Amino acid sequence: MALIVHKYGGTSMGSTERISQVAKRVAKWARAGHQMVVVPSAMSGETNRLLGLAKELSPGSVTADQLRELDMLAATGEQASSALLALALQAEGMPAISFTGWQVPVRTNSAYTKARIESIDDVRVRQALDSGKVVIITGFQGIDDQGHITTLGRGGSDTSAVAVAAALKAHECLIYTDVDGVYTTDPRVVPEARRLKTVSFEEMLEMASLGSKVLQIRSVEFAGKYKVPLRVLSSFTPWDIDIQEEAASGTLITFEEDEQMEQAVVSGIAFNRDEAKISVMSVPDKPGIAYQILGAVAQANIEVDMIIQNISKDGKTDFSFTVHRNDYARAIELLKNEVLPSLGSPEVTGDAKICKVSIVGIGMRSHVGVASKMFRSLSEEGINIQMISTSEIKTSVVIDEKYMELAVRALHKAFDLDHNQA
Ligand code: ASP
Ligand code: MG
Repeated sequence: MALIVHKYGGTSMGSTERISQVAKRVAKWARAGHQMVVVPSAMSGETNRLLGLAKELSPGSVTADQLRELDMLAATGEQASSALLALALQAEGMPAISFTGWQVPVRTNSAYTKARIESIDDVRVRQALDSGKVVIITGFQGIDDQGHITTLGRGGSDTSAVAVAAALKAHECLIYTDVDGVYTTDPRVVPEARRLKTVSFEEMLEMASLGSKVLQIRSVEFAGKYKVPLRVLSSFTPWDIDIQEEAASGTLITFEEDEQMEQAVVSGIAFNRDEAKISVMSVPDKPGIAYQILGAVAQANIEVDMIIQNISKDGKTDFSFTVHRNDYARAIELLKNEVLPSLGSPEVTGDAKICKVSIVGIGMRSHVGVASKMFRSLSEEGINIQMISTSEIKTSVVIDEKYMELAVRALHKAFDLDHNQA
């Protein structure tokens, strides 16, 4: 008998019919002898609906008091879906009880709308499990040390599920979703994309941060920190499929490199259209310049991703970086008005029509020539590379956004992802 955590996303909880399918699936696992904890999202569309109502009543900027109420409001979505799931399980003849974040309690800090989990009390949950009940814990929400309800940010139920699994030392955390696993790249861009049977936690982290939206990135960080075995699988298989088959489906996120297995050099191609590029030309090449430029940007709460500084010529250098596209206009204004005047007025240019394409793979650690293979295949397609950045298990390039699909397809092919076994 193992303790298993299931997480169901909004689509899986999208209607009473779907909720009753979830209940049947969970009951199957419980009847197979497992202790079951289930973390559901709100019914699909519900969080958006609630936040939309809030926007109608307070359209302007959001104050701290308003943020508190947004969490108070948004948390109701998960409270409703959790209670409905408990009712559906009971209708299946399976004893079940639902708990909100503040009943467990799931303790968080006070950062409304993006709170972080600090601890989870397992006493109440274990008591309910020991009395033979399926326990349902609301995703997405918690309570701070003043007793205020908080939420964990959009997509936060993934993180709730992983945190619950960590706190209960669950055997595995299964994330049931509307895709059947993690793919080598987005199948809408490359139809030959394949599902990976396993992906390492580090690769998953890179892919999640690069815009593969299967899991909230914080949940992957959490899983890595607490070594929670995590599997992403489809909630659209028939609920009564063989439990062994179900338990082995989807994509398992692993923590140790399996020595036996021949590791693919590149596991996936990630891409991201959300960034914009900014260049400050001919800044003086002297200490403190990077700080003056990026310090001001950070002060304005604008996150910076890639950063490149060129070698200097005649005591001047060029400095480029990328920001989220939503922050682009604000960053340019800020530089023009507040930073550049004190730098002897160098020129600032930018481009919001770029994209970032990355190859990701832990196999890159032990293979040379991976990046150059990437550059060669882009050059064969006539695609100009504007920026490059690398880490141990990733190489990213910035290119013109109109070549994004071409680049992703070419790289998927060049690294044999169309065929290899995962
Ligand atoms: N219901 C929340 C959202 O829509 C949390 C989640 O579904 O993970 O973002
Ligand atoms: Mg989600």
